[in-house]
Amino acid sequence: MKKETQIISLGRDKKWTQGVINPPVYRASTMVFDTMEDLRFAAKNKANGEMFYGRRGGPTHFAFQAAIAELEGGVGTALYPSGSAAISNSLLSFLKAGDHLLMVDSAYEPTRDLCNKLLAGYGIETTYYDPMVGEGIEELIRPNTKVLFLESPGSITMEIQDVPTLSRIAHEHDIVVMLDNTWASPINSRPFEMGVDISIQAATKYIVGHSDVMMGTATANEKHWEQLRENSYLLGQCTSPDDVYLASRGLRTLGIRLAQHEQNALKVANWLNSRPEVDHLRHPAFETCPGHEFFKRDFSASNGLFSFVLKQGNQKSVTAFVENMQHFKMGFSWGGFESLILGVFGIDKLRTATKWDSSKPLIRLHIGLENVDDLIADLDAAFDRFNAELKLTAK
Ligand SMILES: *Cc1c(COP(=O)(O)O)cnc(C)c1O
Repeated sequence: MKKETQIISLGRDKKWTQGVINPPVYRASTMVFDTMEDLRFAAKNKANGEMFYGRRGGPTHFAFQAAIAELEGGVGTALYPSGSAAISNSLLSFLKAGDHLLMVDSAYEPTRDLCNKLLAGYGIETTYYDPMVGEGIEELIRPNTKVLFLESPGSITMEIQDVPTLSRIAHEHDIVVMLDNTWASPINSRPFEMGVDISIQAATKYIVGHSDVMMGTATANEKHWEQLRENSYLLGQCTSPDDVYLASRGLRTLGIRLAQHEQNALKVANWLNSRPEVDHLRHPAFETCPGHEFFKRDFSASNGLFSFVLKQGNQKSVTAFVENMQHFKMGFSWGGFESLILGVFGIDKLRTATKWDSSKPLIRLHIGLENVDDLIADLDAAFDRFNAELKLTAK
């Protein structure tokens, strides 16, 4: 069965929905029991979909967790109040003082900050590695290396990693492999078939899809599920059933939304590719994106998020480009129905294992569900502003 078909029915078990189409919102902290035997049964099965106490979740959560676990291809999914919480809790569930972490150099900026600030203070050392390192990862492994963390494609610069090779080498050294799989969403890759142990989603992005909820998921395989689940529980992680309801609702249209995001983004990317001002695209479906061959092998589709690098430009001309857009809004995050634009500066300062040439400006786009001709007209006008500003600076 194709994933677009699966998302229509996953999690809609009658024991959670009572027969209505979407799993409803069950708001609860306390669950009451008639007998000691009932209470003992709930305690014993609290991790297997029995109502026990609000922090363990209720039917709204169970339905959504079952759907994500199945789509990602793992055995269980833990929910978190943000994608960042899913990342920090996954790492904290498997690392302790004295351990060593291998973190991809193109990681989402707050993930980097977590390593440099919080984890370093807990006595967990991080080594950053080149996303394109491939088999070279082996040289970076130490006796105390416990986790290899991947993000593919990387944030902003979009390098695609050789996930199966990295996972294989990590497992030869008993290292847990975690992947920030947000860009693929739960439907455009098969992380567990590539050897990943824990697959993380910022559900805030495409799963929710409407820019109105923060949520994270971490899905584990059989070997790592209990440790992830129980340690996240100890760290007090829980999510509002109202938010989970919205995420669950968003999931139903994920397939068709992603297909349209992809189609619009490919049109915009092709148009950008023909512009004389553009140096190259950082779009996984184009050859100029490092790791493009792994995109072709490991992903079933792309989506609306990509970057492009300009041949020249400075802060002023890039500002002229990104300000005063008609349809593209300026803002962080992505994955909603709307188009977003970001001029990203200082990338070189966020890379320590690799070099980034910041003399060529980078612009990141999230292509939304607007009519793509309107979006291209918007970008066309942006290039006019950009070129006018460049001419002024040259004078
Ligand atoms: C947005 C994002 C996150 C963090 O998700 P939040 O819900 O904003 O905390 C993590 N990883 C990637 C790749 C993201 O784009």
